[in-house]
Amino acid sequence: MTPPPVPILLTPGPLTTSERTRAAMLTDWGSWDGSFNALTARVCDALVAIANGTGSHACVPLQGSGTFAVEAAIGTFVPRAGKVLVCVNGAYGKRLARICEALGRDHAVHETADDVPTTPDAVDRLLAADPAITHVGLIHCETSTGILNPLAAIAEVVARHGRGLIIDAMSSFGALPIDARRIPFEALIAASGKCLEGVPGMGFVIARTEALLASAGNSASLALDLRDQHLYMQRTGQWRFTPPTHVVAALHEALVQYDEEGGLPARHARYAENCAVLIAGMARLGLRSFLPPGIQAPIIVTFHAPRDGRYRFTEFYEAVRRKGFILYPGKLTELETFRVGCIGSVGPAEMERAVAAVAETFRALNIETI
Ligand SMILES: *Cc1c(COP(=O)(O)O)cnc(C)c1O
Repeated sequence: MTPPPVPILLTPGPLTTSERTRAAMLTDWGSWDGSFNALTARVCDALVAIANGTGSHACVPLQGSGTFAVEAAIGTFVPRAGKVLVCVNGAYGKRLARICEALGRDHAVHETADDVPTTPDAVDRLLAADPAITHVGLIHCETSTGILNPLAAIAEVVARHGRGLIIDAMSSFGALPIDARRIPFEALIAASGKCLEGVPGMGFVIARTEALLASAGNSASLALDLRDQHLYMQRTGQWRFTPPTHVVAALHEALVQYDEEGGLPARHARYAENCAVLIAGMARLGLRSFLPPGIQAPIIVTFHAPRDGRYRFTEFYEAVRRKGFILYPGKLTELETFRVGCIGSVGPAEMERAVAAVAETFRALNIETI
């Protein structure tokens, strides 16, 4: 009996990885072994290089999902008496505010609607009005809708005010350019299992080395203290605690393929084409995307669900899944939507097939999409 085909994940992580990346996990590594330490070092060097931070920035990897790394960054970079301005236009911004609250870091929330980017002017005004704010927390691509916030312009404002910027670039890093030589930040957070097309299990923070070293005494957590993790790794070449060895090996292999593909420009181009093919295909079915093109990141697309009263997400999801594609529920409270990711080891052909699967599903379920 042949096993059923594995569905393609059109979700923003975990996502569909290449055969080579999965095969890299078939080796067991000793965490003390020199060859594993060399693997970790190569991964970290490659990640810093993607951000153009070689020489000025350090990569601190951390066990766990992306949120662990966000929590570690807030705890490490924001002094206990610091204050964070959290820019919110979706669920991950809200999560950042909850992390500040859980860690006991004073914070102010600047919230805009789900389809309204944070503006540099608003950040400028808020920083001018509140000298107690030491840091700004910004989600680059807010994955709950796919909206892109204007990182470069906001970073410039934050730097002009002499505050620190902490960027959640989880769903953009590797696909959208973030040049540390032109965009000032203290910490940029991302993870193994998103646009780099590794498997989930490891976050990392690209930090301005000076800010990282100056963060002594901030973290109230042992396991999530990035400075400690960094210093230990510098000294020993090892992770402080048991590393996710197979995840690191998979990420290493994914980064080799990233380079072979042509690095960031090629990754960006493929995702942009995936996104364009997806939006055009869904439009042919009468399904509109939630965001206007100017603020839509080529990472994940939110679509309005059909207005037909017979539409049920779970029924739709299951039917599309049987055709080989896993979609994502919407994350908006006011509107019925669903999401489709453009990232992972997939290309325009898979996106076309996904659109065809959606079309067949709505036809089979007798749901009007126009
Ligand atoms: C995926 C993601 C995270 C981390 O989520 P985890 O479930 O902890 O991996 C954080 N921020 C953004 C913007 C993300 O897309």
